[in-house]
Amino acid sequence: MTVVTRFAPSPTGHLHIGGARTAAFCWLFARHFGGKFLLRIEDTDLERSRQEYTDSILASMIWLGLECEGEPLYQTKRFDVYNEYIDRLLASGNAYWCECSPEKVEAMREKARAEGGKPRYDGCCRQKGLGAGPGRVVRLAAPATGRVVFEDMVKGHVAFDVAELDDMVLRRSDGAPTYNLAVVVDDITMNVTHVMRGDDHVNNTPKQILLYEALDAAQPKFAHVPMILGPDRQKLSKRHGAKAVIEYEEDGLLPEALVNYLVRLGWSHGDQEIFTMEELVQFFDGTSLNSSAAAFDPEKLLWINAQHLRALSAEALLPRVKPFLERIEAPCADDALALRVIPLFQPRTSTLVELAEAMKGLLLPAAEVAYDAAAVAKSLTPEGREHVRVLKERFAGLASFDKDAVHHALHSYVEDNGLKFKAVAPALRVALLGSGGGPDLAEAMAAIGQEVSVARLEKALSL
Ligand code: GLU
Repeated sequence: MTVVTRFAPSPTGHLHIGGARTAAFCWLFARHFGGKFLLRIEDTDLERSRQEYTDSILASMIWLGLECEGEPLYQTKRFDVYNEYIDRLLASGNAYWCECSPEKVEAMREKARAEGGKPRYDGCCRQKGLGAGPGRVVRLAAPATGRVVFEDMVKGHVAFDVAELDDMVLRRSDGAPTYNLAVVVDDITMNVTHVMRGDDHVNNTPKQILLYEALDAAQPKFAHVPMILGPDRQKLSKRHGAKAVIEYEEDGLLPEALVNYLVRLGWSHGDQEIFTMEELVQFFDGTSLNSSAAAFDPEKLLWINAQHLRALSAEALLPRVKPFLERIEAPCADDALALRVIPLFQPRTSTLVELAEAMKGLLLPAAEVAYDAAAVAKSLTPEGREHVRVLKERFAGLASFDKDAVHHALHSYVEDNGLKFKAVAPALRVALLGSGGGPDLAEAMAAIGQEVSVARLEKALSL
């Protein structure tokens, strides 16, 4: 059997982290078993569905690396298929036309409620043998008694009493299929073997199982994954710092880190926290899924991102940080320079945004270094300038300009003159970088090179 999973977002908003995690589970499960991962756009809610959201969801999936097999399937283009299945159910006696008006159905429900029963349609049109007609709907002839049971991959044994369920509508009076009918027909025709989705859908599952039974179709396995909650265990929202996937992209997160974090949020593999995509594919077999809801922790997400960022080579990071450099008007004109600068900041930044910000100061030509007035006033005192002037000469005279040579030149200047490093470094730092803070001075100078280092010091001295 080929494993087939699907992700079925409704395009009523951008892809959020809950959906992204479901998509990641489906994708990983299919990959792990050498199967297929399909995408279905559940766009039948015409009021709320938007093409721009479909486009945004597709772009987020690609960014996350969760590419699907073939073209996505759009429910709005499949009404003929749904009707064909409804006709089959009518022909086999598993469905019937119902002429009850919505008001009449509501009155039945009201009556059942008043009698202390479950509000449900009473099946009064079942035996009428009606055909199609204006205002009529098609309903499933559901069994009156019994239980629907299934073994959920996350929740274990789940059972529902059929008496809880209605003769649900399959086709509305306007001819549109209902949600559960469309989902089941799609899952059957897409040959889906494993339905993994949020557990907000668990109440739909018994209804869907009745449809599989009525259609005499093989049922998929179900995995209902608990919701992601806020740290206060309430429904996750923006106020908890949760964002849409595209916002994380803009914040400079690495997609593989976001996937790692989200997958780890509902699944474990021993106590391992950091996974490459390859490792996730290797280990994710649909077991060890948590049955209780996990809380979203933006700090941990950043930490995971930092670990992934550190694990990348400078060569791999360069194309990823470039768009962020462009965004802050520091386009990288010299790849070799950027490759020397990246490792200086990799251990101390958590996102591509932070990395680009940190790199910016070292990528600029001397003429474009911006000096922070307060730092200049504080550190480039007459005494500070004198240190910079002498050091500039020493640096200009070095035959080798690697980190050790620069370090040695700097420290021998300090020692030769009986100075303290603390008395010299701030002036040199401001002269070189324009402000306080930043990387190790010798490393920074070695990265930008002798010529640029000396030119920067010269510029500072001319201020
Ligand atoms: N369209 C549904 C949602 O966005 C998913 C339904 C399913 O996976 O069966 O929640």
